[in-house]
Amino acid sequence: MTHLMQTYARLPVTFVRGEGAWLWDAEGKRYLDALAGVAVTSLGHAHPAVTQAIREQAGALLHTSNWYGIDWQERLGDALCAVAGMDSAFFSNSGAEANEAAIKLARLYGHKRAAKNPTIVVMEGSFHGRTLATLSASGNRRIQAGFEPLVTGFNRVPYNDLEAVRHVGEHNPDVVAVLVEPVLGEGGVVVPDRGYLKGLRAQCDARGWLLMLDEIQTGMCRTGRWFACEHEGIRPDVMTVAKALGNGVPIGACLARGDAAALFQPGNHGSTYGGNPLACRTATAVIEAMREQRLDARAATLGARMLAGFRERLEGAKGVRQVRGLGLMLGIELDRPCREILTAALARGVLVNVTADSVVRLLPPLILTDEEADRIVATVSDVVREFLGPP
Ligand SMILES: *Cc1c(COP(=O)(O)O)cnc(C)c1O
Repeated sequence: MTHLMQTYARLPVTFVRGEGAWLWDAEGKRYLDALAGVAVTSLGHAHPAVTQAIREQAGALLHTSNWYGIDWQERLGDALCAVAGMDSAFFSNSGAEANEAAIKLARLYGHKRAAKNPTIVVMEGSFHGRTLATLSASGNRRIQAGFEPLVTGFNRVPYNDLEAVRHVGEHNPDVVAVLVEPVLGEGGVVVPDRGYLKGLRAQCDARGWLLMLDEIQTGMCRTGRWFACEHEGIRPDVMTVAKALGNGVPIGACLARGDAAALFQPGNHGSTYGGNPLACRTATAVIEAMREQRLDARAATLGARMLAGFRERLEGAKGVRQVRGLGLMLGIELDRPCREILTAALARGVLVNVTADSVVRLLPPLILTDEEADRIVATVSDVVREFLGPP
């Protein structure tokens, strides 16, 4: 009997070692990782620069406290703000905590502007985390059910619907911010229409709202740019980052720009572990490696190759609704629930994910070779066709 709480329906495999895009189980069987720990190990497993950063820092200093100066936190703040075009950073240990910081920032901003009940516009189908505030912000009843009462102060509208946001703006004077994923991740790899983020930026500017982008899954080169907002040439007021930032070492960040950058004052927010030397040095090495290996451009090229590959191989397959994606965030939407695909792909030595019940999701590491990318496309296409049965 396991002593672990049953929070996950785990697949029957345990990995003991990884290198690049590959994982090995205890029996020595090899798997191609097209999930990267859900967009976390973007540099692949056991990346030498990341391993070296961890080793050196572990031997020097793991933790002091945020009551003292932390050199690696300063350096990471500089490096991350530089690549993201932001002004200031708060470091957390996870994505949900980064979003908690963003939500608190929006409320502080609202109270400064004398909003009675500072309210954040959030989206249907969104995912922002599992803490109480972030699950309340998420647009998925399944992750909220059983945990009521929910945190209030969110006004939900359909995703990819600028008119709905305009409507809320006209009727709710308490709105102070919009929180949105540039591409819905857990919600099924939903890429909004061109102009959506730009339209949100314009509405936020016109009404003095903060535009808060949850780039926890889309950021760090995943979509073919450093951050997905670059596809539309806009910058948010607040941006949250996590997942690939530490390549597996837990770290998240809430970044802010302009007025929002100086809102938090001593005593407003904090975290014991957040921004510790180990996590910050690792993340600094991750940014450096991504820059050196030009993984933003590589993700764009590979993503286009894989998308074209899937479209070709799944052409005419009955039951495939749509093959879509942005960079290396790829989704194959089927016309039926398809969790069995996880086990079928696993048996063929490829790790994928199914989200929103019927979307096969791929988030491979950005360091894939062309051959590895083609192998994933071929195997997953075969598994999907076999799952769907004869046409
Ligand atoms: C994964 C994810 C989160 C939550 O991050 P955790 O580190 O699991 O708390 C929040 N937002 C988005 C868009 C995510 O993909």
